[in-house]
This record gives sequence, C-alpha cells and structure tokens, in this order.
Amino acid sequence: MTASPPIALFDMKAQQALIRDELDRRIAAVLDSGAFINGPEVRELEAQLADFAGCAHAVGVSSGTDALQIAMMAEGIGRGDAVFLPAFTYTATAEVPLVLGATPVFVDVDPVTFNLDIADLERRIALVRKEGRLRPRAVVGVDLFGLPADWPAIEAICAREEMFALDDAAQAFGAALHGKRLGRWGHAAALSFYPTKTLGCYGDGGALLTDSDERAELYRQLRTHGEGKSRYEVLRTGMNGRLDTLQAAVLLTKLPLLADELAARTKVAAAYGAGLSGLVQAPGSVPGADHAWGLYSVLLPQGVDRARVQDALKAAGVPSGIYYPKPLHHQPAYAAAHAGSIAGGPPPLPVSEMLCTRILSLPMHPYLSEEAVGRVIAALRAAL
Ligand SMILES: *Cc1c(COP(=O)(O)O)cnc(C)c1O
Repeated sequence: MTASPPIALFDMKAQQALIRDELDRRIAAVLDSGAFINGPEVRELEAQLADFAGCAHAVGVSSGTDALQIAMMAEGIGRGDAVFLPAFTYTATAEVPLVLGATPVFVDVDPVTFNLDIADLERRIALVRKEGRLRPRAVVGVDLFGLPADWPAIEAICAREEMFALDDAAQAFGAALHGKRLGRWGHAAALSFYPTKTLGCYGDGGALLTDSDERAELYRQLRTHGEGKSRYEVLRTGMNGRLDTLQAAVLLTKLPLLADELAARTKVAAAYGAGLSGLVQAPGSVPGADHAWGLYSVLLPQGVDRARVQDALKAAGVPSGIYYPKPLHHQPAYAAAHAGSIAGGPPPLPVSEMLCTRILSLPMHPYLSEEAVGRVIAALRAAL
C-alpha cells in the first residue's frame, strides 16, 4: 500500500508546480529589466486587480498591514479618534490605529458569521458619542475567514455618523456580496498578499482598492513618502509602503488562477459541510454572500478539549490551526487601550471570548483532493 501524501493546512506547492514556467519567465523579465521598484509589472497588476474587483482603482502596497495604515493616514486618523473594529480578528487590524495614536474600540462579533455584530457596533458608537472624549472616525469591517461582513449595515452606519468605512479584506479577496466583489464595499478595501491568503505572493505585499479618485491619489503619495509630482517635493508625511516589482510579477502569474481556485475552495467547503454536519458548527453563511474560503474554521462543541482534538488530528496526519487563541482586548499590547476606550470600562465581549476557546481551522486550499477532505472528516469524527 502506498502512503497517502501528507495533508497541508495551506498548500503553495501544488499551485507553484502548475505555473512554475511562467513564474520563471516573469521573474527573469524583472531581473533583466532591473526595475525592482515601481516597475511596469506594478501598474499592470493594479489594472488587473481593479478589473477583477470591479472597482476604479487598485494601489499596490508593501503588505496588508501597510494598506490599513495608508488608508487611515489618508483620512488623517490619529490622536483623539475612535476606530471601531472586531475583537476577534488578526492583530494588524487593531495595531494600525494605535500606531497612528488613535484608540481602537473593540466590538463583539456574531456567533454564526464571526463578523462584526451590528447591534454591538451601534451600542459602542453611542457610548463613545455620549462620553464625548473621543471622536468616532472609522469602522473597520473584517471579512473574517473570507466571509463578507454586513457591508450594507456598516455603510449605512458610516454614512449616518460621517465615519470612514474601511474593509479589511485581507482574508477575503475574491469574495462578493449581492453580486459586488469586495473592493466595491465601504470607502476602501485593504488586501494582503501574504503567501497563504486567497491571492498570495512569495513574500509580503498588499493593495488598496477604492472607487474614489482622491483617495487613490493620496494612497499613491503616501506609499512613496508623501511625494508629489516630482521626487523631491514632499507634500505630506508618508511612509515607504511600495509593492516590490518582483512580487507584482508573481501576482500577475497567479491572478489568472484565482477564479478557478475560488471555485475549488467552495467545493472543498461544501464537502466539509456535508461531512461534518451534526458534528461541529460549520462556518455560517449569509444570504447573497460568495465566501472566499480563506480559512475553514469550525466551532467545536462546548466542553470539548481542543488540544486533545488537535493532537488526535495530528496523529492522523491532519494539521489544524487556531485563529485566534485570544481576543484582541486580552492581548497585553492592547488591554490598556481597551480599558481606557470607554469611561467606566467598555461592555464585555462574550462572543469573541467564547470563539477563542472553541474555534478550530481545518486544512483549506484549492488543491485539496476529495480523498484528503475525506481523511480530514474521518479524523475529526474519530477525534470527537
Ligand atoms: C493577514 C491579515 C492582515 C495583515 O496582512 P499582512 O499582509 O500580513 O500585513 C490584516 N488583517 C487581517 C484580517 C489579516 O488576516
């Protein structure tokens, strides 16, 4: 009997094998041209990203984190400003407002979609307004694990409150809501091309998507030290936040695969859903949403020893991950900012806390075979 190939949580090798010749050709072209910074591949990629998302502008930047930072810098967000964001997300979402001197206000998430709980968002905006110390300036909606947040509701709140609506779509490029891809929701969307994201490069990279001409212009200035028309005119305080030409060349090679890869992820998710029903809480969906399936995260039943389940999966050759083990308001770096964000102490965040104890991510990538999915399901059944 031949041994089954090991299962990967994410897989970049199968994809690379498909496109290796084109990758080599594209990378060689950059090596030959020597245009490592702001080469023509960056502009070519930006045009293709905007086209894929159906938005007016894409601006390539150095990472998803820098995309978030440039977007907030462009709004002038800083000291005295409150930025509302989920307590259950990756650390970068909360780090950026703090780096800029603003205060993150953590909002609880929905127990089914794992995305911003709109009623809790409304409640916290009202509390901050009532106290009058911080100015509500922005809402960062995260499309966690690839599922679009409730953008119609977030957009309506931001319009009413005159706040900036920023989509942290780092895990969700390719997802859509009511037929509109992310990049057309909110005022701007931040993408990450970290290698394991739905569209990943071979290093760090990111982009900002927007329909606003003014914002796109500002993003281009800010990613290049705030420079104006000439290289020696500094219009505003910016940063070094450019996307490398080599990474743009990698992304140009991978982008043509994305539509098929999204379809393959959807098939894997459907097989998991069927095989795991009744065993764990499958990822929630919302009407009109096309999930990008950046991660496949289930909720284990209450009281199950997650570490033991992970050990049993590992023994069966099935890797798993925990995104995220700790809600952000409990992270040492953010606890003080959280405590001081609303006078008398902010309301509790029970759903975020509960999810951190029960969430478990299973292998998810477009090249997962039916046989491998079956092995994951069988291993989880046996472990529970
Ligand atoms: C990955 C990620 C980021 C940061 O992207 P980097 O490219 O790693 O800087 C931000 N937010 C979320 C939700 C992410 O998953």
